[in-house]
Amino acid sequence: MKALIFGPPGSGKGTYASRLQAKLAVDVIAMGDIFREIMKEDSPLGKRVKGFVEKGLLVPDDVVVEVLRQRLAKVSSGKGFILDGFPRTIEQAETLDKIAKIDVVILLTVPDWIIVERLSTRRICRKCGEVYNVRYLKPKVEGVCDKCGGELYQRSDDTAEVIKDRIRVYERQTKPILQHYNERRIPFVDFKCEKLETPPEVAVESILKELKKLNLT
Ligand code: ADP
Ligand code: ZN
Repeated sequence: MKALIFGPPGSGKGTYASRLQAKLAVDVIAMGDIFREIMKEDSPLGKRVKGFVEKGLLVPDDVVVEVLRQRLAKVSSGKGFILDGFPRTIEQAETLDKIAKIDVVILLTVPDWIIVERLSTRRICRKCGEVYNVRYLKPKVEGVCDKCGGELYQRSDDTAEVIKDRIRVYERQTKPILQHYNERRIPFVDFKCEKLETPPEVAVESILKELKKLNLT
């Protein structure tokens, strides 16, 4: 299965993708995680990427596409993958068409008020990137990752100001891509989140059921 997981920031893409990965034995390619790794490096690329990410802006397409190509080359042949955070522009979607044939778009819909509440209370594992929330998705031990024992931190772009910009960027630059996949008759799996406390397992079960109907699991 080659899938895209698609939705606004804070819609649960990373959270669900990491759970789907365990159930479906696919690779997850999360662009945001890859950029956060690159930003840790004290390299010219790291500094360049940081300038965009910290303002809630998109990293330029040429950089993103090159990074994606390198990552895709590491997926063992025959293994499926879920792309999280790519494509984010029409140009990226057109480039992807030339690289891989996508079987399904997993679309997450979430109202803005939930996004803001979730992102401002979100925490990430410094070591493995797992996502937590100090109110709605607590780790067993405060500040410590359940999976790997890593330290949890708050992303520098998870501040009220930057969150607003990221939502705006999604509406303007990313959401129009849905039309691209509609026109190409790629099947969609929809999950609508209406409650702040919806546990990830509920979403994941619903997504798995829909994928099964499409014979993708
Ligand atoms: P979100 O929680 O907003 O979905 P991500 O972790 O996926 O966040 O991405 C964080 C940031 O990384 C984005 O705001 C953007 O600056 C950059 N980024 C991630 N993917 C892309 C992409 N495909 N194109 C351009 N920039 C990207
Ligand atoms: Zn961890």
